[in-house]
Amino acid sequence: MAVYIKNTTFLSIALAGFLIFSLNAYKLNSNNKKISLKEIKPTKFIESPKEKEQTTIKDTKNLFDESSKAKNNIKYTEQIVIVKKGETFLRILDNFNFENKKKFEIINSINKIFDLRDLNVNQKIIFLVNDKKIVKQIIVELDYKTNLVVDLDSNINVIKKELETFSDFESKEYFITNSLYSDGINNNIPNPILIKLIQLFSFDLDFQRDILKDTQVSVSYEKIFTENKTKFYFGDIQYARVTIKNNTLEYFKFLTDDGYVDYFNRKGKNVKKSILKTPLDGARLSSTYGMRKHPISGFNKMHKGIDFAAPKGTPVYAGGNGVIEMAGRNGGYGNYIRIRHNNEYKTAYAHLSGFKKGISKGVRVSQGEVIGYVGSTGRSTGPHLHYEIIYQNKQINPLTLKLPSGKILEGEELERFKKNYKMILANHLNNLFE
Ligand SMILES: [Zn+2]
Repeated sequence: MAVYIKNTTFLSIALAGFLIFSLNAYKLNSNNKKISLKEIKPTKFIESPKEKEQTTIKDTKNLFDESSKAKNNIKYTEQIVIVKKGETFLRILDNFNFENKKKFEIINSINKIFDLRDLNVNQKIIFLVNDKKIVKQIIVELDYKTNLVVDLDSNINVIKKELETFSDFESKEYFITNSLYSDGINNNIPNPILIKLIQLFSFDLDFQRDILKDTQVSVSYEKIFTENKTKFYFGDIQYARVTIKNNTLEYFKFLTDDGYVDYFNRKGKNVKKSILKTPLDGARLSSTYGMRKHPISGFNKMHKGIDFAAPKGTPVYAGGNGVIEMAGRNGGYGNYIRIRHNNEYKTAYAHLSGFKKGISKGVRVSQGEVIGYVGSTGRSTGPHLHYEIIYQNKQINPLTLKLPSGKILEGEELERFKKNYKMILANHLNNLFE
């Protein structure tokens, strides 16, 4: 369920606005206790065969009940193989009782459907073996909701099996005493959700200056699982709020009429910024824009960007949607990427330790997508990201840049959004206080 169209993933990293938090939110809780989760799901993006809201995870032992029955109650034992580094599928088959000819037949049959060279380290393969030590079925877990099932009964039959997925919503609330990220981890918020949370807030919050001690964070997110697997996967953030003193920054997930998953404040305003001010997580601003003594040359020089100190290898995100104009060595900048966002705006990223695979000139990137990694190449004294926002071919100060805001919902779409956000909020508060 809720597998969103890939291209919209980063479009969904969006916006919000400051508004004064009203107590209405809490009133909703008591009035709308029975709102079903079903009603707030954007049906367009749901691919669930059946509507099912709350399902408990069954023990994986039940996984083969059906196949056992189909095989006249013969007992099968399940042998789980976790793919090790450098291990081929052939090597794995060597552990079982196959004739050589059979091994190659199995491999050829699988390769027609799935290229076995794409087998990953730590991938799970299950062998169903009968009491005569004969393998009857092989199941390769391709991803959390797809299995490759190889039946070896008489002929070799290979199919890709899509598993039914279910989703549930989880809500958490915590105070920041150290950082949004570390306190989130301490409060059992899953890492992928924290990363989305940071990306969501990075449009409006300067993590260095804006977040004060005792800032409150409240978040609701989707948890996706398949019936027979114990592992959870995390979907989208449904709701996120940061309260700093009397200011509240809120985001509600919404599927717009034109089919994009995006985030809006209560007034229906999508304040998505066209360019991120902080294109990485957890960094410390180490040098601002303006005149300074250059740490290497010693001369007073205009610093035409901002520097973020961060450990080597920290992922660097595309500051906005655009096309890579340059990715390569660029003198004192070291490994350098420049993205062209539109006729007027570009962003540049310097001293990178490396480029994300596939990033090269002409490639289209989405806001928030990883493009490279923090390093210290070129004229640099230590690992940091030098970030420039270029407006009409001149560097400008990213920290004072006023960016245009996004879409504002109107009319029927606004009404639909309002209904939706009230349900999201009611569910969130229900989850928190039930
Ligand atoms: Zn710099």
